[in-house]
Amino acid sequence: MAKRRRGTKAGDLLVLLWVVVLGVLGYPPHEHLIAWMVLVPAVGLFWVAFLMPTKCTYSTQRDKLCGRGVRGKLRGCRDHGRWRRDTMLARHRAS
Ligand SMILES: [Zn+2]
Repeated sequence: MAKRRRGTKAGDLLVLLWVVVLGVLGYPPHEHLIAWMVLVPAVGLFWVAFLMPTKCTYSTQRDKLCGRGVRGKLRGCRDHGRWRRDTMLARHRAS
């Protein structure tokens, strides 16, 4: 009996599927150069922001960085995700 997999790989599959669909729709690429120039970086940014395996790196007190693994630059670990969002929103409002 296979256990239900956790959702960590689903995101990768989604991106892969997206790339395949884009590849099919955008073939041959030179007819859709602008679409590629927009979509490829968009997919890349989405991956970096939400799916890339990275570390939380939230600065805890005493300048220590949280080293827990997370998926995506914009997300924090279970404890810091909310704080990271708050910090980013505050920064966004200030600028
Ligand atoms: Zn953290």
